[in-house]
Amino acid sequence: MDAQRTLRRPISCVGIGLHSGNKVNLSLKPAAPDHGIRFRRTDMGGFEVPATVHNLADIQLATGLSRDQVSVETVEHLLSALVSMGVDNVVVELNSPEVPIMDGSAAPFIYLIQEAGVKRQAKSRKFLKIIRPIALSRGDKRIAIYPSDHFKVTYSVSYDHPLLRHQSRTLRITEESFIEEIAPARTFTFLKDVEMLRQNGLALGGSLENAVVLGETGVLNALRFEDEFVRHKILDAVGDLALVGYPVIGHLVAHRAGHALHTEFAAKILEETSAWRFVEDGSELPVPSAAPSAAPAKIASA
Ligand SMILES: [Zn+2]
Repeated sequence: MDAQRTLRRPISCVGIGLHSGNKVNLSLKPAAPDHGIRFRRTDMGGFEVPATVHNLADIQLATGLSRDQVSVETVEHLLSALVSMGVDNVVVELNSPEVPIMDGSAAPFIYLIQEAGVKRQAKSRKFLKIIRPIALSRGDKRIAIYPSDHFKVTYSVSYDHPLLRHQSRTLRITEESFIEEIAPARTFTFLKDVEMLRQNGLALGGSLENAVVLGETGVLNALRFEDEFVRHKILDAVGDLALVGYPVIGHLVAHRAGHALHTEFAAKILEETSAWRFVEDGSELPVPSAAPSAAPAKIASA
């Protein structure tokens, strides 16, 4: 049996919110089987926002969730680390609306999860296995998922910048490959955009400590990988796809996409119930007739 997993013990850290610049306390706590990943705002009476597409908020520069007007922002790097480490069930406590940006990558979250330890639970895990392609495009931005025996991501980016004309990478995502190849890749921004963000009250906590900044012809800080940019896009896509609410088995292929398209696609996957099956222990299960509590209600009518 491929068991569900949670943390062995609670663990905490402190960081700053990228956009607010405020100090944030983050705690990760073990949770029961089938609980899923849920954010809990300790500054809002412990109100919970489950990490599913059902609670998607307005997506611009980062991925946000909200339920009954209580929001949680910049969730994608933490979600990417949790699902890649196989953590199905966890409570993420925050005393502010924003997940701390840490160093702009998922590496500090991997460290936290490793420090807490991961344990198997007495219930099997359910995978969403893609059996027919699903695709979505918006202008020149494209994303699709194809049947595959593993969870794989191919990402390509192209920007009007000498360092970023074209980068592409394909990787089978496992705990090991994610830790080595993807988790350390930091978020990036263009120097010309920083001023605009600040004027709009965004990126107030942003600095060379938590983002790669691209000037006219080069980067202002040292890169961790030559193709750190496309690796970070893979990190973002894995985190956004986590909002499906189940580990996905398929080959995700994205070109010039971003959080808005990733998350719209995560919702589309759940809607396209004829394009996937739930599997457990490698054997196929029928699509459930009632919606799982963590997934959108529209599945129920499919
Ligand atoms: Zn990111």
